[in-house]
Amino acid sequence: MADKAREIVEIVQAEDVQFIDLQFTDIFGTTKSVTIPASGLEEALERGIWFDGSSIQGFARIQESDMFLRPDPVTFRILPWTGNGSDLRARVICDVHNPDGSPFEGDPRYALRRAIAHAADLGYVFNTGPELEFFLFREGGDGPAAAVPHDVGGYFDFSPGDEAQRVRSDIVNALQALRIHVEMSHHEVAIGQHEIDFRYADALHSADNAVTFKYTVKGIAAKHGLFATFMPKPMFGMNGSGMHVHQSLVDIDSGESKFFDPDGEFALSLTARQFIAGQLRHARALSAVVAPTVNSYKRLTPGYEAPVYVCWAQRNRSALIRVPRYSPGREQSTRAELRFPDPSCNPYLAFAVMLEAGLAGIEEGLEPPPSVSDDVFHWTQSEREAQGVDVLPGTLEEALDELASDDILRAALGEHIYDAYDRAKREEWDDYRIHVTAWEVDRYLRTT
Ligand code: GLU
Ligand code: MG
Repeated sequence: MADKAREIVEIVQAEDVQFIDLQFTDIFGTTKSVTIPASGLEEALERGIWFDGSSIQGFARIQESDMFLRPDPVTFRILPWTGNGSDLRARVICDVHNPDGSPFEGDPRYALRRAIAHAADLGYVFNTGPELEFFLFREGGDGPAAAVPHDVGGYFDFSPGDEAQRVRSDIVNALQALRIHVEMSHHEVAIGQHEIDFRYADALHSADNAVTFKYTVKGIAAKHGLFATFMPKPMFGMNGSGMHVHQSLVDIDSGESKFFDPDGEFALSLTARQFIAGQLRHARALSAVVAPTVNSYKRLTPGYEAPVYVCWAQRNRSALIRVPRYSPGREQSTRAELRFPDPSCNPYLAFAVMLEAGLAGIEEGLEPPPSVSDDVFHWTQSEREAQGVDVLPGTLEEALDELASDDILRAALGEHIYDAYDRAKREEWDDYRIHVTAWEVDRYLRTT
C-alpha cells in the first residue's frame, strides 16, 4: 500500500473513525456517497469498492452497471460535524473505474483529469480559485417557496449580534477543519446573500474543494434551522449568485506564473492573452456547462453585476473576463477571472471545458479582441457589434445548441458525458418550456 494510503488507515485507527463515506459526483456535480465501515478501508484502498452505477444520472446503462470506486487518499478528511456522541465519519473522494480497471468515461473527475493531462503535455498546471456565492433562507414550513431571506443585511454589512455572522463563523470553522483554507467571508449585495472565498489550488483539488464547500455550507446551515441555496437567481430583482473563477497557468516544473509579463497590457503574457482569447471564442458554448440550469440565464442579465457580453476588461465587472489589477511583487497572482460561471455547475466539468477552451486559444495562437474599458451595458447594439462584442446565450436551450456545434468542448466532456448531459439538459429545458408560470398567469389571464 502506498504511504499516503497507509497514513490514512493509521489516522482512522488512532482517531477511532467508524465510517468512511466514499464520494464521487454525477454529471450534474451532485455528491454521491457509499458508506463502508472503517474496517473495510484498507481493502477499499487496495482493491476499490464495487457498486451499481446504473441508477446514477449519466452513468452506466443497466447491462453494464458494475463499476468500482478507487479512493484518492489525499482527499481523506474527517467530517468535522460528526463525532461528539454520534459516529465519527470521514470521507474520501474517489475516481470511478470500469470493471476492466480503465477509468470510467462518465466520471466528471476523469474528464477534468484528461484536460489537466493535456495542460501537462504543454508544460502547464491549471490553478483555479472559485468564489461561490449563496443565499441563506429560513425554513418556511412550506418548502423553498415560503422561505424568506433570514436577514436584511447588504454588501459587507457588519452586525455583531447577527445570526448570519454566527452561521458564517461555523461554516468557516468547518471548512478550515476540512483543510479548505478560507481567505475571507462577507455579506453579499442581496439580502440573505453571502460569499466565502477559499485559497486557489490546482484545478482537480479546487473542484474537490468546491463540491465539499457546497455540502458543508448546506450541512451547517441546516444545523441553524436555515437552508443554503446555490440557485443562481433565487429572487427576481435582486443580485443572483455567481461562481467567479480566478484562473492561472503556472509552469509544471518551476511553478512560475505563465500569465505574467511586466511589459504586457495589464502585465499579461502572450500565453495569458491567448488563453483569454480561447475562452472568449468558446464562451457561448462554455455557458452550457458553467451556467447549466434554466435559472442560470435569469442571472446573466444586465444590472446585477453578472456578465452578459463576451468581452474582457481590467476593472469592469460586467465583462465576461476580468483581469484583476497587478500589484508589484505579486507576479504569481496574475490571473484571469471568469465571471459567468454560477454555483449550480459541476466544478469538474466546468474546469475541464474552461481549461480546454483556454488551451485551444494557446494552441491556435489566437489574439483576443481589444479589452473594453467603457461599461458595455451602456453601449447600443450597433456599438457592440462594431466592437465585435457578442452576447451570451439568453436561454439554456440556446447554450446547448452552441455546445452541440463546439467540437473542442464536446471532446473535453467526452462522448459519454456529452450525450448524457445533452439529453438530461434538453429534458430540463423542455419541462420548463411546457410549464405555465406565475408570470404568465399574472400577465395574460385577465388581459387576453
Ligand atoms: N452576485 C454577482 C454575480 O451574480 C457578483 C457580485 C460580485 O462582484 O461579487 O455574479
Ligand atoms: Mg461576490
